[in-house]
Amino acid sequence: MHTIDLHAHSDRSDGALAPQDLVARGAVRGLSVLALTDHDTVAGISDARAAARDHGIALIAGVEMSVSWGAVTVHVLGLRIDPSAAALLDGLAGIRARRRERAKEIARRLERDGIPDALDGALARAADEESVGRVHFARHLVAAGAAKDVRSAFRRYLGTGGSAYVRTRWAALEDAIGWIKEAGGIAVLAHPGRLGLRPARLHALCAQFKALGGEALEVISASHTAADIARMAWLARELDLSASAGSDFHAAGESWLDLGALDPLPRASVPVWRDWPECRTAGLD
Ligand code: AMP
Ligand code: MN
Ligand code: MN
Ligand code: MN
Repeated sequence: MHTIDLHAHSDRSDGALAPQDLVARGAVRGLSVLALTDHDTVAGISDARAAARDHGIALIAGVEMSVSWGAVTVHVLGLRIDPSAAALLDGLAGIRARRRERAKEIARRLERDGIPDALDGALARAADEESVGRVHFARHLVAAGAAKDVRSAFRRYLGTGGSAYVRTRWAALEDAIGWIKEAGGIAVLAHPGRLGLRPARLHALCAQFKALGGEALEVISASHTAADIARMAWLARELDLSASAGSDFHAAGESWLDLGALDPLPRASVPVWRDWPECRTAGLD
């Protein structure tokens, strides 16, 4: 089992646990390195960092940015970022403003489907109105009896093709990578196997990602099948990108995997953390 997990969410975005409780859970689960990667916000980093100090584990400051690549939404992780970098903070604020507008439109569509007051229900579950996301709507729909669980809320209403799906223009790939690099961070393409792209399109995306300064593919992800892992490891090597690993943990029972319950990287992959000082002291290779 890995003792490193480079993708996890707190309740500053759509995770269930406060940043300090997420870190505590990671410590109990035997992690020595954990990245907090909330969607489009770094608001949880300082609490997570303080808790990591208490628990004796290394906290990697991270973020998961919502990006539009043409009509496709992709997620780009920024790892080892300076969470006070001005360009990054400006960029994230711009993305979060779109979350607020999207939420109003999602609620309008749900109302049309006979589900009133979904905006209030979602906002009550979010840290603030700019961090509101589809998972908050999904949890509200479950509580209101409109869906039996989060996954079916996505299937019927919130996912691509659902009746309340709202296409949103997020950040440009070039901008997101630029903000991460200006913040001293490393850009990682999150869960590429989940994008549903045909091989040639995925190759084009990854090649462009690399050309714009992206450094790694998330090879190990809870949402990847064994075949995805093999394909992503191959693609990373082909394009001279390194490999990352993360659970994408959100909440016990809701997530595919718990923190740190990850397979090792394929042997030929170059770990994105290979030269990180946090990992040297943790004795990871
Ligand atoms: P958002 O960034 O608000 O559009 O929401 C994206 C988040 O929704 C992802 O990070 C996941 O947490 C969650 N999500 C996306 N698709 C699904 C799905 N099919 N089932 C459950 N959760 C999902
Ligand atoms: Mn999420
Ligand atoms: Mn994601
Ligand atoms: Mn995620």
